[in-house]
Amino acid sequence: MKNTRFCFFIILLICFLGKSAFSHAVTIKLCKAPSDWMPEFYVNVPIKVTIKGDLDSRHTVVFNLSNVTNWPGVCINDGSKNDLLPDLVLSANNQETNSGVTWSKPILTSKPIFDSIKAEFTPSASTSKFTFYVTIECFDFAAYGQLNATIYGSDGTNSPPLNSSNTITIPRDENGNKIADNWLYNAATDTDSDDETGPGSNSNNGDGFTIFEEYRGFYIQGEHTRICPLSKDIFIYSNLDEGLGYATNIDGDNPYTFNLYQVSWTDMDGGNRVMNSRQCPGYSYMEQRAIRVLEDKRSKADEVDYAYGRAYPIQYHSSPNIPANMLQAFIYTKSIDHHLEKPEVVGRISKSDAISLIIGHEVGHHVNLADDALGSWNNDDGTANSIMSYTDYLYQKSPNFPPAYHEDEFKLTDGN
Ligand SMILES: [Zn+2]
Repeated sequence: MKNTRFCFFIILLICFLGKSAFSHAVTIKLCKAPSDWMPEFYVNVPIKVTIKGDLDSRHTVVFNLSNVTNWPGVCINDGSKNDLLPDLVLSANNQETNSGVTWSKPILTSKPIFDSIKAEFTPSASTSKFTFYVTIECFDFAAYGQLNATIYGSDGTNSPPLNSSNTITIPRDENGNKIADNWLYNAATDTDSDDETGPGSNSNNGDGFTIFEEYRGFYIQGEHTRICPLSKDIFIYSNLDEGLGYATNIDGDNPYTFNLYQVSWTDMDGGNRVMNSRQCPGYSYMEQRAIRVLEDKRSKADEVDYAYGRAYPIQYHSSPNIPANMLQAFIYTKSIDHHLEKPEVVGRISKSDAISLIIGHEVGHHVNLADDALGSWNNDDGTANSIMSYTDYLYQKSPNFPPAYHEDEFKLTDGN
């Protein structure tokens, strides 16, 4: 009887001690980054924080970022090349107010200034469950980092930590490829490769941009654009009113299409044509360039040898790594004018149509299409059924790129 009573007392004591220890335990948990959040220049991401236990004003929480990227610039063709500051930042100035939380920078000499922030709580925040948000600032379209939090007791960061949170990735990255899960092609694991294939039996893989570069994206005419790692992408600058002309017809007749993007002068690294000038170490394959198409108002009468247009240097018309190796194309609009004045041509084709044909033809030379397209250089068979036909009568040209010619036109890289 006495023994039983003693046991009962011991059990009560254990329960009391257990509950007491439990009620003083404070745990902290971070929610994953929102599943639809993608890194963007100057777009913040709020992360929900849950603290359970008797949180009160004696507690301090320190948030830490780690493994933060510091890519040059803000995307693959824009921003300062010398900018190597962290792409994700914890700043005391950009946090939510009125949530019972006071933010400041902790004095932690071991951490860089951008990587940590401290939260303290007003007495009114005392509760057994408390939620609030910590905001992370983002400065790169491929920013990546990891976040965790540690809670300290009454002596703040001088005392041993009471509890640490889970670690989450910014952005959300379940498959660990450092690409936001919300990107359409997030399934890619070989993010440093450049392996677009096709069409048909064409063995030249890639378009000069790695999957990671296509994810990080480009500013094109002021709009940030992530491109497609399944299609070969071509960037073109044109100063003619006809823009890309019939070069747009180069895609569209098989599932492995080209995607064409018309870029501004500044989009291609201040006119030097390099489209991936802000490369991320470990994530680039080659320096790929835009095609530059310029109007030239000289004509045959001015002793220009090239009838309507010219893509040079000629030796690269059939080499790999185009358009990177090519310099540019000229469109001789005055020659086209003279041609349209010939009696047998008058009324058969508009000037705009003719210029569009020549633009398409010269862009064809930048993606390895030869004249007449089916084989050797300057081997026109007179059938004039393609934009690549080497005919003197523009109206005989077709604006199309027949599917049979796609075997050649995809040689953008050297095929490794
Ligand atoms: Zn030609």
